[in-house]
Amino acid sequence: MKCSLPGEFLATEEEFSKGENTFEENGDIRADSTGLPSEDKKYKIISVSKQKNLVPLSAGSIVFGTVMLVRTNSVSIEMHPLNLKSERQVIGASYAMLPVRNVSREYVEDLKAQFKIGDIVKAKVAEAKPWGIDLRTNEKELGVIKAFCSRCRQPLQLSVTGLKCTSCGNSETRKLSSEYGQIALG
Ligand SMILES: [Zn+2]
Repeated sequence: MKCSLPGEFLATEEEFSKGENTFEENGDIRADSTGLPSEDKKYKIISVSKQKNLVPLSAGSIVFGTVMLVRTNSVSIEMHPLNLKSERQVIGASYAMLPVRNVSREYVEDLKAQFKIGDIVKAKVAEAKPWGIDLRTNEKELGVIKAFCSRCRQPLQLSVTGLKCTSCGNSETRKLSSEYGQIALG
């Protein structure tokens, strides 16, 4: 389910007229509430139906996601939809950014030594804006909860000396969550 957040871009005025729960700004039609956008193709109207039981992501929301890309200054994470306490979280965008400054309370020299593509991450929303979500992992229980060997792709096991691959003996580093290996994601 792809939900819109207040202020999110839906269409241009050339494409559609604004319908319920939308507003126009500089030729763009945007959502004025959290909900599901729908297009009336016949009359070219775009509207949003409000969803009462949906909880938008906001600062402090916990999200789980998969690392898609690691850059020098940020990590791109695809968020997993998740049911929490029977309330469905609204994920306006499925991608979020983890800026290097939000990774740890300690200085992070090399982001590529902290995250790798395919890692499963537990994070909190630092800031949710219509155009994007910033995450943070600067708490003990936040960070990588499952990682895979970059040589052979087997899940890495956490031992007293750190992350190790039991298949090929490779050792790796990550920004680890204190819950590494303890969370099963359905
Ligand atoms: Zn390995």
